Amino acid sequence: MTAKTPAALCRRFNTLLIANRGEIACRVIRTARAMGLRTVAVYSEADADAVHVALADDAVLLGPARARDSYLNIDRIIEAAKKTGAEAVHPGYGFLSENADFARRCAAEGIVFVGPTAEMMEAMGSKSGSKALMEKAGVPLVPGYHGEAQDEKTLADAAAKIGYPVLAKASAGGGGRGMRVVNSADELSAAIVSAKREALAAFGDDRMLIEKFVLNPRHIEVQIIGDSHGNLISLLERECTLQRRHQKVIEEAPSPTLNAAQREAVCAAARKAAGAVNYVGAGTIEFVSDGKETFFIEMNTRLQVEHPVTELITGVDLVELQLRVAFGEKLPLTQDQITLNGHAIEARVYAENPNKNFMPSVGRIRTWQTPDKVDGLRIDAGYTEGKTVSPNYDAMLAKVIAWAPTRDLAISRLNRGLEETDVRGVITNIPFLSALITHPDVRANRIDTSFIERELAKLTPAETALTELELGAAVGAILQSEKIAAGRDAHSPWRASGWTAVGMRQRNFVFRQAEGERRVALRYGSGSSVLAIDGRELSFASSASARGGLDLVLDGVRHHVAGLLDGHEVYVRTRNGRFEVHWVDPFGTEDEEQAGADRVVAPLPGTVVALLVEEGAAVEKGAAILTLEVMKMEQTLRAPFAGTVKQLKCKVGDIVAEGVELAEIEPKG
Ligand code: ADP
Ligand code: ADP
Ligand code: MG
Repeated sequence: MTAKTPAALCRRFNTLLIANRGEIACRVIRTARAMGLRTVAVYSEADADAVHVALADDAVLLGPARARDSYLNIDRIIEAAKKTGAEAVHPGYGFLSENADFARRCAAEGIVFVGPTAEMMEAMGSKSGSKALMEKAGVPLVPGYHGEAQDEKTLADAAAKIGYPVLAKASAGGGGRGMRVVNSADELSAAIVSAKREALAAFGDDRMLIEKFVLNPRHIEVQIIGDSHGNLISLLERECTLQRRHQKVIEEAPSPTLNAAQREAVCAAARKAAGAVNYVGAGTIEFVSDGKETFFIEMNTRLQVEHPVTELITGVDLVELQLRVAFGEKLPLTQDQITLNGHAIEARVYAENPNKNFMPSVGRIRTWQTPDKVDGLRIDAGYTEGKTVSPNYDAMLAKVIAWAPTRDLAISRLNRGLEETDVRGVITNIPFLSALITHPDVRANRIDTSFIERELAKLTPAETALTELELGAAVGAILQSEKIAAGRDAHSPWRASGWTAVGMRQRNFVFRQAEGERRVALRYGSGSSVLAIDGRELSFASSASARGGLDLVLDGVRHHVAGLLDGHEVYVRTRNGRFEVHWVDPFGTEDEEQAGADRVVAPLPGTVVALLVEEGAAVEKGAAILTLEVMKMEQTLRAPFAGTVKQLKCKVGDIVAEGVELAEIEPKG
């Protein structure tokens, strides 16, 4: 069967199935709705109550939580489209968005795939294939090897010829996975084994390519879109230099690094790259720049996570353009109608703990509070209060995106947006994102892709001491939670003792932080209360705020703060930042057991992918014991102290539950 032309594959449709989840499914539904389309969501067993399911007109259960049983199951998705009369599928990003078999299957079933054809995907989707094409088209490439032969000697010879340091990359890679920087020849073989393993697990394909590792690079990429009538335009560039482990963290548009001539040059190179395959649909051409030269690294044949920054500076809705191209329309804009307005910057909010090597955090979201609607602030979220973050998928919860006339103002607006976003129940990277974007070197654009790694200690500060304001907010949070509990339970002791008190009474609070305990006494009578802190007495009142959070009056000043009690932990956010403090509850039973801190346990459910020591081996503190794959990322578990490996309690391939001990180490001496 010969491939159909793009024009033959495009047609007007009324019902769109979104083969994705989370924020991007919500984002696509929003525009599809506005264009009058009927929308169909698909979901896994873990996502039955997810936001995207509720947003769509219809929804179809695909199967169990595991992606390969649900969001990656092509048969089930096609079946869902047929059952619901969906005539088109939008793949979002990740999952099947760059899967040529899926695009081909849609075409064969008469379903419009919102994206390029399978053939274009095959030509550009693999990093090696696209580099071969770009070489022919005369687009500058990073020096490297992207051939078919994959034996160790070929790769080693290629690396030696290119010169170290090199980057070993999975040809099918995405999201920074399957990629290792190799500094010298003796590191190469181990790096390739581990990158191949990660690539096989993530993409089902472990072919590698080798590239010169560009030093102090910046990541610049160009948004393009083509229609089925041969028109192709670029929509300016984005800069995504702030990365961790080759994964973007902050993205902005336009690039603060390029001047007008450089901007025009990189956009022209991108149009040439996409033009080489007569590209149809939205796509991104990615480059790295060493400050002098700009080299093509890959093309993503889909909508990108960071597409909103482009939308905010161009005023174009990229999903609308994607859908209109899929209808078979001509692009409604010409190149000279794409103009640059202001500056936009985006931060990716993840459920992860920056203080613990960015370990993903899963569980139920207890609080989900985002700022009031403000001009120039956009929040693309896939979660709300009460929803559960599952270990089966990517940990990105939302994107906070700010627009302003200048870069400096956009950064300030983004920071304010982050500060007013409060997510509790799972640990998030929000404080880290705030610290990052307000770092003086980020403000001044003195960055490269290793910036985060270098500055990590400054970006993940140890906890700071509580001031009177945070202590007041903590007391306010406890009182508030008791008030709610008392409202629910008419027999609560707080009803009798706390709130109908006669005369002056006193209640003592003890809060514990790493650096010690703080004591606060609340003295209250009819009408007025005071807090006694370190010998000072401050007038005190606290009530639920109409804006959410608490209105706290302390020493005559009204503060708007956030405070939440979760078990014994009090979460507080004030103008001084975010704080977590342990409340030593006089009535509660303290469970001080530090599970896991001195044992090798699975921090989250995962799969054992490698055992790095043998039973009986002597290990130093911090020695790598085994590798666990958690939420698609490899995590190395290390020895908590020096000793001997007494027993390995798992084997490669085991799927382990959270909290299970995986290895027993006998301490030395
Ligand atoms: P972007 O360039 O849009 O930032 P990334 O490469 O970071 O995109 O990936 C976007 C999302 O898709 C991430 O959540 C990533 O985990 C996921 N992803 C990327 N490529 C693949 C793939 N081939 N298979 C599965 N998930 C992928
Ligand atoms: P992915 O498909 O995972 O997005 P990329 O090839 O786009 O893979 O690489 C991810 C990131 O790694 C890039 O954004 C860039 O910052 C960095 N990178 C990629 N290639 C090179 C290189 N040759 N030299 C230096 N950094 C690179
Ligand atoms: Mg990339």
